[in-house]
Formats: sequence, C-alpha cells, structure tokens
Amino acid sequence: MVRIGVDVGGTGIQIGLVSNDYHIIHESSIPTRTDLTFDEQVRQIADCIVSTVRSAGFTENDIESVGIGIPGIASAKTGEVIKCTNMGWFHVPFRQVFNQYLNKPVHIDNDANVAALAESVAGVSAGTSSSVFITIGTGIGSGIIINGRIWSGAHHIGGELGHVIFSLGGVPCTCGNHGCLERYCSATALIRMAREAVEDHPDSLILRSADMDPSRIEAKTVIDAARAKDPLAVKVYDFYIDCLAQAIGSVINLLDPEVIVLGGGVSKAGSFLLDPITDKYPKYVVFNDQTLPPVKLAVLGSEAGIIGAAMLS
Ligand SMILES: [Zn+2]
Repeated sequence: MVRIGVDVGGTGIQIGLVSNDYHIIHESSIPTRTDLTFDEQVRQIADCIVSTVRSAGFTENDIESVGIGIPGIASAKTGEVIKCTNMGWFHVPFRQVFNQYLNKPVHIDNDANVAALAESVAGVSAGTSSSVFITIGTGIGSGIIINGRIWSGAHHIGGELGHVIFSLGGVPCTCGNHGCLERYCSATALIRMAREAVEDHPDSLILRSADMDPSRIEAKTVIDAARAKDPLAVKVYDFYIDCLAQAIGSVINLLDPEVIVLGGGVSKAGSFLLDPITDKYPKYVVFNDQTLPPVKLAVLGSEAGIIGAAMLS
C-alpha cells in the first residue's frame, strides 16, 4: 500500500507516492490551472494521481489514502476548503468532489501545517509529541503540532504566527494590518531592512553585490555580505536575527513545545542563522532559567509538502 501526498502551490501541483517509511517512491507534477473550474481542477489532480500510481507500477487498489496540502485554510474534519486565494477556492467541498473521481480517504490541510507534521514524523522533530515549525520565506508560515497532531484551532484559523502583531502601528502587511511579525522576520523583511539601510550607505557590500541596484537585493545578498563582515550587512542582519529571536521567544512563552523547527529559504543559511538565534532567544523567554526547547533546522526541504500531506489522517 502507498499513501499519496499532494502539494498544491501557486505555480504547480506536486504529487508523490510515499512509502510506509516516509520516503517518496515516485513523483510527478502538473501546472496550476486557475483558468479551469473547481471541478476540472480537482479532476486534473485525481487523474494525475492515478497516472502517477500506474507509472510507478501500482494500481488504484494500492492507494491507502490521499492527503492534500494547500496554501490556505481547510476543515480537516469535513474536507471543505474554506479559503485558498491562489487557487480561487472559497468554501468548496473538496473531499466530496474529489471522491467522485477517486474514491479513497482524502485529508486536506494547510501547507505549513503539513510541513510541520512531516518534520515531526519523518524529519528533525521526529519522536517528539509537540513542536512548532516556522517557515521563513516570502512570508512567515507556521504549524503547531500537539500530541502528534496538527493544531490549527477550533475554527481552522490558528497557527498564523506571521500575523501576530509584532510592532503596534508598524510596517503595513499584505493582510491589511500593520506591524505583523512577518513584516520583520521574513526574507521580504530582511530585504526591506537592507534596502532602507543602503540609502545612507551606498558604499556597502550589500549594494555592490546587487550591481548598485537596490531592487536587486535578495535575502542571500544580505546574508552573504554579513558573512563577509560588511559592517552595514552585519548591523542589518543582527537586527533581523533579534526580530526572529523575539518571535521564537514569544512562541515559547505561549506554547513551550519540545522543539522549534525553522524551515524555508532563509533557513538555508544554516548555522549562520541558527547559532546567533540560539544565543539570543533565551533573553525573550520569561522562565529562561529552566530547560528551553532547542531550535533546529528543518531537514526535509521541499519534500516536506508531499511527505506531510501523505501522513495526514
Ligand atoms: Zn499580516
């Protein structure tokens, strides 16, 4: 028997067959087609699952379950997608429609929750019963695992660390509020901080590495310049690390999970990210004279979406 994991993204949909020991046996992908109706989109996913299963030498009878991770919110209980803006899905009965095309148990959840589950089952937090996964990319995503299960709240709207208010009246957020945590802790935030900083310091390595064009500054530009000890980059990066450390301290003050896991593009900085965070976050924990949860880097990378979706139950 195999489990199917589907990772729905804005540009493509990845489909994988996952073994009982959490390895992706076979994988395929289809482009995201928002020009299709909801029914047609679901049918396209179901058809691709069947063809992927067959090309791996299995039949539909070998499918134990199908799990779907979406960039939005869903009811794990009813299988309804409540809101998934990228796909244009609002209050659609995903499970019901999917089962018309492929009659297998189907589970659906938010993509950050799914990645959190993957790490807690098969990744760096395997063996723990509680963890918080924070993905640091264009925005901040997060997933909370309690007693080995995803906690997304009583109304499926929880686990949104990125939109916890970090600075009252602060930087405007895509959500309409001001001062959300992701405006200070995401890759986008690091880029913004660097662009503001180079205005007064055009001699910085950050700007020279970006061909003197602020619009070409990426998170990696800043991180690489900080590694090279460019004074402005070090200052910007230190402040950014402090923001992340505060965010992690707040998570611990609220939930005290066994482990905090960091993933997403910025986590590719590895120990250059983890070491200074590990130094700083205890300062923001109230009971910091006690044993604190370690902060670790995610290990499953982009496979977490498929593996975690396949583990949904
Ligand atoms: Zn926000």
